[in-house]
Amino acid sequence: MKSNNIWQAVLGEIELSISHGNFITWFKNTQLVSDFDGNIIIGVNNIFVKQQLEKKFIDNIKAILQKNGVQVKNISFEIQNINHEDSTDINNEVVEDLEEIHQKDKIHQQLTNSLSHTYRQGLNEKYTFDNFIVGDGNELAFAACQAIVSQPGTRYNPLFIYGGVGIGKTHLIQAVGNYLVKNNNFSKVLYISTEQFVQEFVDALRFRKTADFVSHYRTADVLIVDDVQFIAGKEKIQEEFFHTFNALHQANKQIIISSDKPPKDIPTLEERLKSRFAWGMSIDMQNPDFETRCAIIKIKASEQGVDLTNDVVEFLANNIQTNIRELEGALNQLLAFCEMRQLEPNLTITSSLFSSIKSRPKHLSSRQIIEKTARYFQIQMEDILGAKRDKDIVVPRQVAMYILRSELHLSFPKIAKELGRKDHTTAIHSVDKIEKESKINMEIKKAITEITEKLYV
Ligand code: ADP
Ligand code: MG
Repeated sequence: MKSNNIWQAVLGEIELSISHGNFITWFKNTQLVSDFDGNIIIGVNNIFVKQQLEKKFIDNIKAILQKNGVQVKNISFEIQNINHEDSTDINNEVVEDLEEIHQKDKIHQQLTNSLSHTYRQGLNEKYTFDNFIVGDGNELAFAACQAIVSQPGTRYNPLFIYGGVGIGKTHLIQAVGNYLVKNNNFSKVLYISTEQFVQEFVDALRFRKTADFVSHYRTADVLIVDDVQFIAGKEKIQEEFFHTFNALHQANKQIIISSDKPPKDIPTLEERLKSRFAWGMSIDMQNPDFETRCAIIKIKASEQGVDLTNDVVEFLANNIQTNIRELEGALNQLLAFCEMRQLEPNLTITSSLFSSIKSRPKHLSSRQIIEKTARYFQIQMEDILGAKRDKDIVVPRQVAMYILRSELHLSFPKIAKELGRKDHTTAIHSVDKIEKESKINMEIKKAITEITEKLYV
């Protein structure tokens, strides 16, 4: 079974209960193989994952299944060769043959009978206003969010926050949700990434559960939709989202939306949605200024129990100016480096770790990056630029996109174009994916480091 709605829902809950790194490492390539009479079999793709899940996560998985009303007698893990389709391929509404639908429906029915969790609330408690540093670049967005939590649904509806990757959009809008759950006793504050929304909608169509889907979202007290740019080009979903939006807006329910660009610049977004998104308030979020970046580094380090000296903090804030996510990545790299060697982070270590950042020549071309990436992975240029979707081509292609972004700071449409892609959301997705993976997948990390080094010799 390729896609599995119910397991996705369980994963959704697990994702909220463990760190992102752990989630990607241990759960990303898992699937529900069968569920018969309380005997649950979960497919994993190697022995390490199997052992780790058995050792560390089995109770957690069991508890989440049970909490959601699934009867569990026994859970076992089976090693399978799981071939991962690109999960962005979510427009595919051509469903497998009928038998498979029946099979899925049966499992789905069993597992969903007593539960309301198929759609999840989606909030992650780690994002709060308290650990969000306010400064130049985000203060307007912050102020709007504060205004919203004082009187949800009345002002700034919808609130539309836009800005580049890694500058704190998700953190901020999640903070609104968490605050409202805690302080306003709203029972139904829903946070959803647009990708998840799309996936749920497609699944709802497959499982003939559209009524559930519709009522779930239309009865929200507050609806927070992250990265709405991913709705571009998906007509049916835009239509559904339009109705959801109207229902909530008419009932004065607060809607918060984030995107990487303003509504008018989202390609293939229906006019009527563009105009609705502009009804309330649109706010641009920028990369915070130097002082704010320093404060963010300090708070992130202290969350990990580390007290950094000012020179180290300032070095990082000065040298990594792209976005907060990268800044946080650099901090994590530094802390990991020091922890492994039992050293105290200091300026010498920090500057030697990140020295390459400053001395970059400017004449690097996109072509060189793509060529070096292809060479590193030992694939042909025409493959990396072509249409093939095999994993050993897709990953290098995504890495190339990531490096185009990190080294040349190209726009997403430009990145897509350089790699012969029409849709720039592919580039956004790829860069984001590799950025996340590079923190936990040593092979990817090594590839990026080595390719990048080769660019400058
Ligand atoms: P975006 O959604 O805009 O891509 P995120 O909200 O995921 O960015 O932010 C990336 C990382 O940077 C997160 O770990 C977030 O906590 C952190 N971050 C961004 N801005 C701030 C801020 N002002 N204060 C504290 N942390 C921040
Ligand atoms: Mg985000």
